[in-house]
Amino acid sequence: MAAETHCPYCALQCAMTLTPTDAASATVATGAAPAAPVTVAGRDFPTNRGGLCKKGWTSAELLAAPSRLTAPLVRDADGALRETTWDAALDLVADRLRDIRSQHGADAVGVFGGGGLTNEKAYLLGKFARLALGTSRIDYNGRYCMSSAAAAGNRAFGIDRGLPFPLTDLDDAETILLLGTNVAETMPPFIGHLSGAQAAGGLVVVDPRRTATARLVDDGQGLHVQPAPGTDLMLLLGLAHVVIAERLVDDAYVAGRTTGFAALRRSVAQWWPERVQSVTGVPAATVRAIARRLASGGRTYILTGRGVEQHVDGTDTATAAINLALLLGLPGRPGSGYGTLTGQGNGQGGREHGQKCDQLPGYRKITDPAARAHVARVWGVDASEIPGPGLPAIELLGSLGRPDGVRALLVHGSNLVVSSPNVAEVRRGIERLELLVVCDFVLSETAALADVVLPVLQWAEEEGTMTNLEGRVIRRRPALAPPAGARDELWILHELAMRLGSTADFDTDPEAVFEELRLASEGGIADYSGIDYALLDSGAEAFWPFPRGGTGSPRLFAERFHHDDGLARLVAVAPRTGARPAPSPDELTLVTGRLLEHYQSGAQTRRVPELLGAQPDARAAIHPATAARLGIADDEPVEVRNERGTVRCRARLTTDIRPDAVFLPFHYGDEQAANLLTSDAVDPISSMPEFKANLVRVTRLVETGAES
Ligand code: SF4
Repeated sequence: MAAETHCPYCALQCAMTLTPTDAASATVATGAAPAAPVTVAGRDFPTNRGGLCKKGWTSAELLAAPSRLTAPLVRDADGALRETTWDAALDLVADRLRDIRSQHGADAVGVFGGGGLTNEKAYLLGKFARLALGTSRIDYNGRYCMSSAAAAGNRAFGIDRGLPFPLTDLDDAETILLLGTNVAETMPPFIGHLSGAQAAGGLVVVDPRRTATARLVDDGQGLHVQPAPGTDLMLLLGLAHVVIAERLVDDAYVAGRTTGFAALRRSVAQWWPERVQSVTGVPAATVRAIARRLASGGRTYILTGRGVEQHVDGTDTATAAINLALLLGLPGRPGSGYGTLTGQGNGQGGREHGQKCDQLPGYRKITDPAARAHVARVWGVDASEIPGPGLPAIELLGSLGRPDGVRALLVHGSNLVVSSPNVAEVRRGIERLELLVVCDFVLSETAALADVVLPVLQWAEEEGTMTNLEGRVIRRRPALAPPAGARDELWILHELAMRLGSTADFDTDPEAVFEELRLASEGGIADYSGIDYALLDSGAEAFWPFPRGGTGSPRLFAERFHHDDGLARLVAVAPRTGARPAPSPDELTLVTGRLLEHYQSGAQTRRVPELLGAQPDARAAIHPATAARLGIADDEPVEVRNERGTVRCRARLTTDIRPDAVFLPFHYGDEQAANLLTSDAVDPISSMPEFKANLVRVTRLVETGAES
């Protein structure tokens, strides 16, 4: 029977219908390569309007891929991973966890989650860590994705919902400022929502690369500016400067709905456009023109993405974008707004219900006594049994295998040794571990290092809910039965909790887990208590906060912000001296990002032949002028290196990149892992690593592999 569900990949959560085929049985009969056991069709839905991208169209191919894991694997004495039974694998994991806990304490066990897990799995994983393991050491890969935008949103608005309005609100926009996001490749159906701004000539794209998104303005439909990598904050300060200097501020809005204007005005006073030009390379006249366009009074949106957020000053940069929006009176104004574009499939819901080291369900603070008491009541324990705050991802990974650090790590839905910054160091930490357990459905680079690999279900085989980039809660529905040897992570957590002697309840039914999540989130910032499966199955829209007996909240901020006084905060921010080193003449700035064909670490999309065939390996995008100076020709092998590591790949010469920068996609592993080069220095507020502005040298490789 056909199942109405959503794409397994990004946060656009395009709607699709999966219809089972008899391909699997036909394949067995003919001996051909396994075919997809379901067909995929786009389904009408506000975010995608029936469209899908290449990743969505091909998503079913992984369901029957030969690389699919269908039995637990345990590393034997020879160092090889060998298939075993579920009982043997789970008994082994539980025994080792008990030993490590008893010898070194509960915080010697860590958990690393993922922004692709359903709400139910993310919620239960947080509960499992705190109650079954008793550890505070849980964090997740959303730390690499949304943490700076989340910190900025919480600081300014008192709430972190990526888009505080439905995506379709963008359709009628006259001006959209897109900062550091390449939606034309990362979520192609999104660009349908930009057509209004394009038609009005008001699409402004800020990106150091001339991406597919930047090319949307080529026919007079807007403007593309290419600031030097790492200077977005200064550009935004300059835009705020112009808005204030030219008296373009929405005075009534700022006076009535915000605090902090005086300090903000002082903080941007020194960022006049000519100074911004000298730092960013964006002409002063362009800075003025963008500010005037944004302030022209039409339907206007400012949207940020990872390009401006994945920095050591990412929170302040996102804050500067929010400040600009507040000065213009955009948040909460009908037909206008500010938002940030969540990346991972459940990047929104996954950051609300307890995977974060400082968080309890409902976006509650783990340090808040009232929040602890509420969640403890739902969990049936004393609040004292819930550990305190743990360590954010980079600190957690930095502690791996250390005497007072994490000695056993459970990984769910994350490919750490590709997606983490400074991956060589993460790999060394993993090698120091006494136990690594990875739940995955393929042998990712991280799973290949594990002591135990537990095979889990794929999206088309499971029930659950996701929360998309709009804060809309949606249903994931199964289209087919999973392979006999794979198990739901809810079941795995239940089995481990039982073996560890936990008396807490770990339900295996997704709907029952969601019912518990509703209770745990009730009264919190991310309140899901008014949502249930029946409501979602009825087709009703469900944007959180959605209190019990109330209605959902498609649009936030119309009347008030979520701080107690109802006001938004204008927060004065400034570039930090020495936040990142200045390049020497022979260094380029490395920009990392995504390709149309691949998703995140590539663990899934690199296993889809069509996608791998289109983008089989990493290419370093270099400006032809820079390549000429370095003696590099198109398609030649190059080395991109710095003090952390070396990437070996081929060059792709393109004028789409600035001459002072080099671009690498981050979807590849081993010697092509872009994160060999990225720094684990973090933003002091969000703990977001510096993914987007690291210094490297690029050299040509000769045939022997020696440098020229
Ligand atoms: Fe839609 Fe994103 Fe899936 Fe592409 S990857 S089909 S944009 S949800």
